[in-house]
This record gives sequence, structure tokens and C-alpha cells, in this order.
Amino acid sequence: MSRTHPELRTPPPLPDGGLRVIALGGLGEIGRNMTVFEHAGKLLIVDIGVLFPEEHQPGIDVILPDFSSIRDRLDDVVAIVLTHGHEDHIGGVPYLLRERADIPLVGSKLTLAFIEAKLKEHKIRPVTVEVAEEDLVDFGPFGLEFLAVNHSIPDALAVAIRTSAGLVLHTGDFKMDQFPLDRRITDLRGFARLGEEGVDLFLTDSTNAEVPGFTTSEGELVPAIEKVFRTAPRRVIVSSFASHVHRIQQVLDQAHAHGRKVAFVGRSMVRNMGIARDLGYLNVPDGLVVDMKVLEKLPANQVCLVCTGSQGEPMAALSRMANRDHVIRITEGDTVLLASSLIPGNENAIYRVINELTRWGANVVHKGNAKVHVSGHASAGELVYCYNLVQPRNVMPVHGEWRHLKANGELAVRTGVHPKGVVIAEDGFAVDLVDGRVRISGKVPAGNVYVDGQTVGGATEAHLKDRRNLAEEGVITVVAIVDADTGLLAEPPDFLARGFVHDEKTFDAVVPLVEKALAKAAEEGVGGATQLEQLISRAVGQWAHRTYRRSPLVIPIVIDA
Ligand SMILES: [Zn+2]
Repeated sequence: MSRTHPELRTPPPLPDGGLRVIALGGLGEIGRNMTVFEHAGKLLIVDIGVLFPEEHQPGIDVILPDFSSIRDRLDDVVAIVLTHGHEDHIGGVPYLLRERADIPLVGSKLTLAFIEAKLKEHKIRPVTVEVAEEDLVDFGPFGLEFLAVNHSIPDALAVAIRTSAGLVLHTGDFKMDQFPLDRRITDLRGFARLGEEGVDLFLTDSTNAEVPGFTTSEGELVPAIEKVFRTAPRRVIVSSFASHVHRIQQVLDQAHAHGRKVAFVGRSMVRNMGIARDLGYLNVPDGLVVDMKVLEKLPANQVCLVCTGSQGEPMAALSRMANRDHVIRITEGDTVLLASSLIPGNENAIYRVINELTRWGANVVHKGNAKVHVSGHASAGELVYCYNLVQPRNVMPVHGEWRHLKANGELAVRTGVHPKGVVIAEDGFAVDLVDGRVRISGKVPAGNVYVDGQTVGGATEAHLKDRRNLAEEGVITVVAIVDADTGLLAEPPDFLARGFVHDEKTFDAVVPLVEKALAKAAEEGVGGATQLEQLISRAVGQWAHRTYRRSPLVIPIVIDA
């Protein structure tokens, strides 16, 4: 498998008849999936997702792919294909459409309904092209064919892309559940047919490449979910992803069977389940789903609430219930069912929520103590099957952290793909398919773009460093009134501190250091306010480090007297 060079430069123009593939997100991370295909002067985008921030990225709402490498070529973009409706595949679409609103969005009925609802909040009305499995549609030099795949959201599609450079198959997120609730299985016959035709580049979901065997079927969760509804003495409160239509279908079925009424809680849950029901993806028996006001009047053992917050997101319903910050009060005897995954990075937040809910008297059922979740991604066994069916010439593992990409590449090699045909790329790497061979030809910018409130791209790594610093080390503000003639202090400086442990005497020791720094500056003829501020900042910073082994943020303010 080809390893990579950190010193790659901007790729040269693509050779005539070649195909360039650049992932602007989703490689080395789980999230913000976005792949750009270039051929014959045109661009095709598959998915534009967001990544959710971790604890070391305080104040950030979501993280986007960097669009800068395609920004001056937006007129060349022929379409954005959306493989399915998860946030890490569609969440970034509004931000690109802000720059060019009429790029056609191509996706299945449910995927388009989810993205249209999201775009409505951004006041964007998109151009859409609805497709279904087995459809063939051309966009510029790209001939697209769609194939059914099974995932943790209905109506997911893989896409085959035909160009004169060769045939590409991109799985999107997928697994091979043979008994899904909607009976819509991954189209392995289609995969095999494309294999017969000759797949030149196969992009595959790496998320579960390290997990041996096969991902168990959604249907195998029935006994554990049934048991919750059969044995819960009081209310059942279920938390899941607002897009996991089939999991919520299972919950509705069990609630119905055990004589409970259901209310949806949380904006995204209410919105998505409304869409799924209207489009026929969620089957809701008459009278089962009721308003919260109706539910509140029922006996506790006839109540089921379905809410968001399964990842411990602080603003979601479940976290607020755990913090006693929600109209729904958890009481002794309630059962909380976390019918969801535990996404790496969210563990602390989730366990905090589980502990708080338990403290208020709830019995919490989660994947750690019951079989209430299966993954939406293909395990190693399924990936091997796909490689053997498709027999691709070249493979580019996508959607995963390093270890996942590498494991997936190794599976491809074990099935007989030539190691030189397996390309483990990073975000931004240009992977060129020319004459049936792949090679990395360069690199474009693909860093994190932070959405922070209403600003996009305004917050930088330096801002985040300051925020972490403020949180961990505190801040000291130094106000120095300086005599404009002498350049010396007109009176002793004032110190204001937050988050830095101090008492009234703490800063006495710093005054002579500031005096000394200013005296030296005056002697050397250094006088500008900015330069003096730098000197004060350095003197105070060095003192804090020397004396307390702390590195507070120092904000110096120099005022002319
Ligand atoms: Zn997905």
C-alpha cells in the first residue's frame, strides 16, 4: 500500500482523460465526509458533511471541510450527490450552497427531504434531482448509476461513476444487513455486475474495518427492546439519533404492543419523524403518537418518550433531563433506553448523563448492559465479501480514522488487490486515476473550517489555543499608565485576574519587573504602545511561569499619560 509524503505540493493540471479524486474530509476522522471528482474540466462532489467538535475545540458548533481549493471553480461543479441523510454527509451542504445556490443536489427521496428541511432553516431553496436505486443519470462528463445500500438510515445509496478514465464505485456508508426492517438489502448483485464490467477504483466505508466478522442485524435487537417495554414499571424514555428511522420504528412497534402512547421530544426528532412518516418510511399506527400534553395525563406505565441526546450533547433533551433543566423530570422507576452507538470522543459526556439519570432514580439500559444497538457500518467480513465480488483494480478506503483506513486497505490486499493499487490518502490528497493506475499527485488545503455562532472560518487554531489557555490557565490583564515623555510608568500598574489563583499581594512582585522592562525600553528608545505591550506581556508571562509554573493569557494595556 502506498504511504504518503508530508511535503506534497499543489497538484499539477490533471492529464487529459484522467480522473482526479480529492477527499476534502472524512480521511483520518469520522465525519465531514466530502469527495471531489474532477474529470474533463468538470467537478462532481459526493457528500458534504460536518464533523462535531471535541472537548479541545471549545465554543465551536460544527467543523466543515475547507472549500478553498474549489472556490474559484464552483461554476464547474455539475452536481452534489448525497449518499444518505446523515449530518456527517449532508450537514455542510448549506455552507457550499451559500456560495453557489443552484448546484443540483442529487439524492434519494428521504435524503433530499432531510436536506431540504435543513436548507429551509438557512433560507435556501435548492435545485434537486431525486434518484432511486438502479437509476442512471448523466451530469456533464460523469455518468452516474445508483445502487441500494443498507445503513442506519433508510434510502441510502452507493454511486457508480462512469468516466472515460474508468469506472468508480463509491459505497457511501453501508453494511450488509440481510434482514433489515424495510427488506431493502445492499445490492450485491449490482456490485457484482459492476465488478464484471471492471471497477477501476473502489471507495469503501472503513468505519468498522477493524471489527471482525459481520455486523449483526437490526432485527436482533427485538428481544432486548421488547424486554424494556415489557418490564418497565413506569415511563420509558428512549434516546436515539433523530435520523435512525428503523430503530425508532422498533420502539414504536414495542410501545404499541405494550399499550403505551408515544411523544417525540426535541426539534430535530419531531421534524425528522414527521418527514419519515409523511414519506412512508415510518409506519405509525393510528393514535399511537400523541402530543406531550395528552401524554402527561396518562398513567406512567402507558407513557413512552422518544428524544434526542444519545451522545450526551449538552443542549439536547436527554442531557437537560439529566441536569434537571427540562420540563420532563426523571423520577424513581423511570426507564431510560439509550438505543444508540457511543461515538468515540463522546464517552465522558454519555457516561456523565447515564450517571446523573441513575442518580435521579432511572434504570438506564444502554449498549454496555443490553443488546440495544447494532452498528450501521460493514464489518471486516462484509468488506471482504465486497472486495471478492467487485474485484476492483484499485482501492481507496474512505470514512475512517487512520487505523480504520489501514485495516480496510489490508483487507483489500488479502483478497488479491495489488498493494500498489491500494491508496491510503489523507484529506486534501489528489489521487489521480490515469490509464487504470492510481497515484498521489499533490495536495490541496483541507484543514478544519470552524463554524462558531454566525461566523464561518473566522475562528482559527490560534483562537482555540487561546480558549483552551483561558480555560486552563486563566487571564491576567495589566493596565500600565506610561508617561509619554519619559516612557516610564506614571503610577504603579493595575492587575486584574480571572481564573489565575492570586491574592492582593501576588502581583506586588511583578511591579518592579514591569518597571524594569519599561526602563530598558526607554533607554533603547523603544516607545510604541504595541511594542511596550509586548514587553509587559513577556515580563508578566515569564514571571507567572517561573513563580507558579502557569501560563495565563496576559493582556497588556498601555495608556499614555
Ligand atoms: Zn451514515
